[in-house]
Amino acid sequence: MTIKEIDKKYIANTYARFPVAITSGQGAILTDDEGKDYIDMGSGIGVNIFGASDKQWLEAVREQLAKLQHTSNLYYTEPCARLAEILCSRTGMKKVFFSNSGAEANECAIKVARKYAQEKKGDGYFNIITVEGSFHGRTITTLAATGQDIFHQDFLPLTPGFVYTKANDINDLLVKVKENKIAAIMFETIQGEGGVVPLDNDFIQEMVKIAQEEDILLIVDEVQTGNGRCGSLYSYMDLGLNPDIVTTAKGLGGGLPIGATMLGDKVKDVLTPGSHGSTYGGNPVACAGAINVINRLDEKLLAGVREKADYIKAELEGAEGILSLTGKGLLIGIETTKEAQRVVSECREKGVLLLTAKHKVRLLPPLTISFDQLSKAINVIKEVCAS
Ligand SMILES: *Cc1c(COP(=O)(O)O)cnc(C)c1O
Repeated sequence: MTIKEIDKKYIANTYARFPVAITSGQGAILTDDEGKDYIDMGSGIGVNIFGASDKQWLEAVREQLAKLQHTSNLYYTEPCARLAEILCSRTGMKKVFFSNSGAEANECAIKVARKYAQEKKGDGYFNIITVEGSFHGRTITTLAATGQDIFHQDFLPLTPGFVYTKANDINDLLVKVKENKIAAIMFETIQGEGGVVPLDNDFIQEMVKIAQEEDILLIVDEVQTGNGRCGSLYSYMDLGLNPDIVTTAKGLGGGLPIGATMLGDKVKDVLTPGSHGSTYGGNPVACAGAINVINRLDEKLLAGVREKADYIKAELEGAEGILSLTGKGLLIGIETTKEAQRVVSECREKGVLLLTAKHKVRLLPPLTISFDQLSKAINVIKEVCAS
């Protein structure tokens, strides 16, 4: 049987896979089992920050792997402590809880918010406001947090305690805060899975204001927008926000599973021994990869991300068959005349791998993609969109 046939027979049928089996890669180039090369404009959904088999990252991971692969959280390990120290010094957050995915990072944020509000504000203040169109994960609780009915319908009842506000509708937000006992507001600065939709700055500022006035925690979900993706270390930093909790995953490990829930001053001591945990959380190999990622996301690399973003926008804005561009840095949504799925499959045939988000084409290339590779990919996208 081929890889595809075995997969179809034995893998749970949750993914509409592209008809490609990737076997290896180097930087922004991926190679399939027939030896065909592709320019990777998806980076494993924003995970492979430095592309495939990046030398320095590989060395950092290999070195730790050869020493020890896992200890559990019964013991101290250096990579985990160092990574938390680096994240806090780069962001100003105070403490970190490590897990293995974006959904788990958000689960922890939700638990912290509930415990904080329960202790500080009393019974009933367990509700968390999220935004329509958001995406926060696939566990029953993070599905409940996700403001999209389409993900909910087959899995009811979901965890109670989530209230959805319309995106960019300040009146609706204020009504929801007034009508419910609220522990926290959780949002993405740019809704990634929701179609690369940025929230209006006015709306974000209103969330900040109401959160301050009502002692409501601000949780920013930086699972997709974080780790340099939008041209700053975390996208909230560019907006001058001071969140109480920041969650991240995807690009953090550079290709190994890790999630982080960063806790600010107000909530840094909410979690106590036994109140939360994860067997794999803070795994030394994943943390060694993440240390390499964060340490290399310096101002020079971030400026490169912004420069590449400007280049993509200049090339695609107003091009034939392209209706609109949204996003920031190397998280870009493209509305095309042609159906997004068709653009993706025609580009794939021409050796360029893209993603979709809702009805849009989505670009999430490795941050280190070269201008030469980028320009080749952009030319293919333009050609396909125009035809
Ligand atoms: C991908 C994503 C998640 C879920 O991350 P997993 O690692 O798949 O659990 C949560 N929030 C946002 C904003 C995401 O883009």
